[in-house]
Order: sequence, then C-alpha cells, then structure tokens
Amino acid sequence: MYKVKAYSAASATSPLASTTIARRDPTEHDVQIEILFCGICHSDVHHVRDEWHDRMPTVYACVPGHEIVGRVTRVGSAVTKYKLGDLAAVGCLVDSDGTCPECQAGVEQFCPNRILTFNSPDKHLGGITYGGYSDSVVVDERFALRVPSNLDLAGAAPLLCAGITTYSPMRRWRVTKDKKVGVVGLGGLGHMGVKFAHALGAHVVVFTTSPNKKEDALRLGANEVVVSRNAGEIHKHACTFDFILDTVSADHDINGYIQLLRRDGNITLVGAPAKPFAVAAFGLLFGCRNLSGSLIGGIPETQEMLDFCGAHNITADVEVIPIQKVNEAYERLLKADVKYRFSIDMASLKSD
Ligand code: NAP
Ligand code: ZN
Repeated sequence: MYKVKAYSAASATSPLASTTIARRDPTEHDVQIEILFCGICHSDVHHVRDEWHDRMPTVYACVPGHEIVGRVTRVGSAVTKYKLGDLAAVGCLVDSDGTCPECQAGVEQFCPNRILTFNSPDKHLGGITYGGYSDSVVVDERFALRVPSNLDLAGAAPLLCAGITTYSPMRRWRVTKDKKVGVVGLGGLGHMGVKFAHALGAHVVVFTTSPNKKEDALRLGANEVVVSRNAGEIHKHACTFDFILDTVSADHDINGYIQLLRRDGNITLVGAPAKPFAVAAFGLLFGCRNLSGSLIGGIPETQEMLDFCGAHNITADVEVIPIQKVNEAYERLLKADVKYRFSIDMASLKSD
C-alpha cells in the first residue's frame, strides 16, 4: 500500500478538498499509472452531490474522476500489455468478474459484479474505490486502455467517458453516411457526439439551449444548429431524423424530440437527470419510434473508439485547469459554461 494526494468531497454539500488516500501496490496483473490528466464529467457532479441516491448512493469521502490518462510507472510480474513509460488510460470501469455472459460479450459495464472507478466496493483495500482526481491509480491491466500516440493527452482524457458514451450508441444504431442525426445538448458528451457523427459521415443537427454555442457547433462538425428554446424551429424537422442522441443532464421535455424521428427512428438517452421523464405514448406509437438508453461502453469497444480517434485525430475540446479550480469548474458546468470539457492537469496536485 502507498499514499497519494487526491481531492475528495466529505459530504453531498461539501466542496472538494485536498486529501491523502491509499492505493494498493500492484499485484501480478496490475499496472500503476501516474495520472497526467483527468476529465470532469457531469456524472462526477451528480455523484459528489448524491443526486443519484436512489440508484447508486454515494459513499463519502468521495474521490471522483473516470476520464484518466497517464503513464505506467510500475507493472505486476504477470503484466503483458504494458511496460514502464507506456501511455495508458482508465475509464469508468476497473474490474468485473470476467466470466458472466456480459463480460464474455465484452460489455463489462453490465456485469453484475462490475467495479466502477469510484464509489464501488474495493475488494483489495476494503472501503470504496477512489477515482482519478489523484496522483496515481492501480488497475488490472484488462481495464487499462491504449492511447494512440498522436493524440493530445489533455483532450484524450475525456474520450474515456464522454467519448465512449457517445460513440457506442452511434455504432449500435448504425450512424453512417447520409443518416440524419440529432445531438441534444452541446456539453462534454454532446460535442463528442457531434464529432463522431460528423466523422461517420452523417448530416448532423445540434439542438442547444445556448445561442452562443452556434458557431462552435458548426466548427465541431454540425451541418445545422437549432436553438431549442424555440419550439417552432424544432418542429421544422418533424419526422426526419434517423437517430437522436440526448445528452442533457437536467430535467427537460423529450416528447418534442421523439416527434422529430422518422418511422423506426431511434432516440437514445445518455444524459442521466435524476428525475424521471414523462413520455407520451402516442409519440412512440405513430411511426414505431424507439426510445433507448446507453451506458458508457465495454472495454473492447472503448479501445475501438480510441483507435478510431487516433485514425481520425479526434479529441475533446478542453479547458485545462489546475485541480485547485475544481469547485469553480463544477459551478460553471452547472451553468453549461464550458467549452467543452474541463480537463484537470494533475501536475497541479503536486503544489498542494
Ligand atoms: P455537460 O457537459 O454539463 O452537458 C450537458 C448539456 O446539456 C449542457 O451543456 C447543456 O447544453 C444541456 N443542458 C443543461 N441543462 C439543460 C436544461 N435544463 N435543459 C436543456 N438542456 C440543458 O454534461 P456531460 O458531462 O456531457 O453529461 C451529460 C449527462 O450525461 C449527465 O447527466 C451525465 O451524468 C450523463 N452521462 C451519462 C453517461 C452514460 O453512460 N449514459 C456517461 C457520462 C455522462 P446546451 O448549452 O447546448 O443546451
Ligand atoms: Zn462520465
């Protein structure tokens, strides 16, 4: 066991503050990674503030962070995929049973025994797992991912959650050339959704509540931008979309978006507001439309996504911040005031 610096929240109403946590010494299949950058996902905020209490109550002290890139600094004796000095990344998952049908299918996120990067039981040290707002992390090499060497590391970190969460449903629902794709909400997930849909050749329409994001949306790859506070503008697109990705983090009306789908079209929710939605059955009945959800992605698909990003030179647009600004960053995230992901430069932790 060794000690590392980290930032944790002591309760749902406490700010994140400097602390020290324990990490296990690498066992034979583990890699120890010095964390260089960690993205700030809106799920970190939901967790830290215990907003998902009914589904996944937060255990305090909570060290969030599941968009991790860094360098391998120690390897266990049986590690084969990594050597000292390699770049490696960790997303939302750090373990699973490896034997259940979900693991066998490469969708470890649905394993009944999955261990999330933070706020899951820690079978090695007891207590709960601690996330990436820290100096280093130790994971089984099965849950470490390779980062293409051409990618900027600060911008690559958010691929580990925002990237895979938007890439996976687009592959599942066959977003390809000439499909009409909507992305609702231009935040961390949404802007990655735009980049992927554009790279896959789709005609991309962004729905945003923020008129000041219009030019950025076009630069990121959108063909059209609709300010979603204007119902008339939305309605012009009725019955035309093959696929819509809803990334909104707060309560909102999804019925207007369901109406935009063509026959057999799909709207997938990846945003996770705490409050349940009201869905009008008629919107789905007329047109046999589909409403789905999607949760991050399994390890094989996450590697596929990273390789796709390497091939297309895709990273997140990031605002790099020192860890000391994390509480301010949370407040800005709640105001949709980030272009488009905060990425924490973990070197800043050394000066704490
Ligand atoms: P984010 O950066 O805060 O982006 C959310 C965007 O939603 C905002 O930028 C804003 O975009 C829009 N929005 C915010 N409040 C709104 C409101 N009241 N009405 C309409 N639009 C609103 O958050 P994120 O990190 O992308 O995460 C988005 C959601 O996905 C969160 O709930 C998060 O927990 C969830 N998530 C799910 C998964 C999964 O596996 N399913 C993985 C990661 C995150 P505009 O300014 O463009 O309107
Ligand atoms: Zn996330």
